[in-house]
Amino acid sequence: MSPSHGAEDSGTEAPHDGAVVYDLAAECSLDAVSEDELYLATVNGVVEYGVFVDLSEQVSGLVHDSNLVGSYDVGDEFIVELGEVRENGDLSFREVQLADYAVETVDRDDLTTVDELDDALGDNVSLEGTVVQVKQTGGPTIFQVRDDTGVVPCAAFEQAGVRAYPDVELDDIVRLTGVVETRDGALQVEVDSLDALDGEDADAVEQRLDAALEAAAAPHDVDPLVEWPAFEKLHDDLETVARRLRRTVLEGRPIRMRHHADGDGLCASVPLQYALRQFIAETYEDPDAPRHLLKRLPSKAPFYEMEDVTRDLNFALEDRERHGQKLPLLLMLDNGSTEEDTPAYRNLAHYDVPIVVVDHHHPDPEAVEGLVEEHVNPYLHDEDYRITTGMMCVELARMIYPDVTDQVRHVPAVAGISDRSEGEAMPDYVELANEEGYDEDDLRDIGEALDYATFWLKYDDGREFVNDVLNVACDDRERHEELVDFLATRAERDVDEQLDAAMSHVEHEALDNGAHLYRIDVENHCHRFTYPAPGKTTGKIHDRKVQETGDPVITIGYGPDFAVLRSDGVRLDIPEMVVELIEEVDGGGVSGGGHLVVGSIKFVKGMREQVLDALVEKMADAEIDEELQSSMALPDGE
Ligand code: MN
Repeated sequence: MSPSHGAEDSGTEAPHDGAVVYDLAAECSLDAVSEDELYLATVNGVVEYGVFVDLSEQVSGLVHDSNLVGSYDVGDEFIVELGEVRENGDLSFREVQLADYAVETVDRDDLTTVDELDDALGDNVSLEGTVVQVKQTGGPTIFQVRDDTGVVPCAAFEQAGVRAYPDVELDDIVRLTGVVETRDGALQVEVDSLDALDGEDADAVEQRLDAALEAAAAPHDVDPLVEWPAFEKLHDDLETVARRLRRTVLEGRPIRMRHHADGDGLCASVPLQYALRQFIAETYEDPDAPRHLLKRLPSKAPFYEMEDVTRDLNFALEDRERHGQKLPLLLMLDNGSTEEDTPAYRNLAHYDVPIVVVDHHHPDPEAVEGLVEEHVNPYLHDEDYRITTGMMCVELARMIYPDVTDQVRHVPAVAGISDRSEGEAMPDYVELANEEGYDEDDLRDIGEALDYATFWLKYDDGREFVNDVLNVACDDRERHEELVDFLATRAERDVDEQLDAAMSHVEHEALDNGAHLYRIDVENHCHRFTYPAPGKTTGKIHDRKVQETGDPVITIGYGPDFAVLRSDGVRLDIPEMVVELIEEVDGGGVSGGGHLVVGSIKFVKGMREQVLDALVEKMADAEIDEELQSSMALPDGE
């Protein structure tokens, strides 16, 4: 509870916003009264020097005139806090006046809380809480029960593999008694009796739990790593997401994190994964909880694919069935802001799976509105991609679990360099990383190494390995440096090899608008199924041509039924071009999109020539605009 109420300033009006006042049940003893809490008192006698009050049948005492603000008659109620307990057992109280508070009933004082179980090993205890998971094992049924201080597994045994207390369900408010024991080194309660509460009893506990949950969900107030006015605009949105994620953990709802499989996507998801795991471990007595409640999954495509959402739903439904888990919250990172994500979101909408997005790609806010519950994106605040997802998520991680700060100071700089951010705060971020012993080349190498590692990890999150590459929750700096060196060198070598073969097959054409058009058949003139993939290969070719020419450049990397597009200095609108191609090329089977100047399209194999010709025609008509945002500053498409 709030430790900040003015115990010293008796009788004054202290700032108690949201304070909790306890109404003790008749049978409560002095054990139920603690020095820094507030209680409802009833006047049982008025004397010259004050009033006598009852907190319960067993707890009574004096409020001396000097500690009294109002004047009261027998039967009146007001709020007090404990003043003194004399040696002879006499109690004195002080009146406290509050404008805003909540009353909570304390039924009995023999309840133990989850955070007290450590000291109750071997004891018989009573707990009240809400059931956040019901898992049937081959032996007992395990109820994960959350009270106002934490979550503990409670094992109830009926017969091996038989569901105990079949009437007790997920989200029920329960009162249980049992013996505190350890199992595999972790605390659990062996249940003697378990009852689902209803009516007023349940309401009272629920109110208490809700207030505790609300308080525990509050994010930490941390100063951002660097001062950056543009970034400050996002602070409140990030705080909302931090609160939402902490609440999700407390409620026992798993979090399924989907992130773009590139440098920035990892700089976003890895610190957040680390922070959430710490918070879960702190909340749950079950040491397996971090593993069960949080999954990080890389997404190859720059949007949420039907393939990914189908897997996600399938796993979520299986976890519900097999492990009695709630359906997850989907957290989209460095991905998830666009129209292309919406079919997958619509698929999720058949189930209770809330969606939260933190992204810095050019969004379609109207398209995703109503489908996502929170959407953090610098474009929604007149800022842009220069605030990378990694930068946002490092602050988010710190709001969730501030102790991660020392592990993540270098991460925003890696994110910024990976995504070629030209944000005003980049020098400050790089300076922070310098203090950790990284120069700019090191940071670039970490980004490349991450990109390379995640390419080979495919659908696997590779948590420990990726932690070592990024040096988050990694205990061996030397190994981290050797790994990065090895991976970055391999990545560079693979890119060089790819381009050695490809560059001589790049075809050039001067467009009517004066831009250079470069085309490369990535299917026939590049190594396939290796690093770099077609999107990155096209990006690397494009970058070289922009540097070589210094002119407006468009690059198309095409395969049998797809093309990857990048442009610099030409006012393209790839999503719009896709819409037009769908209409104009009959039977082309065109789909795709992306950002204004980076994107990809798909078509049917037999119509490639017609689609690409129509595409080039549109590109030749596009305006030249050298002031445009450079696609070089954007991550590669797929
Ligand atoms: Mn990014």
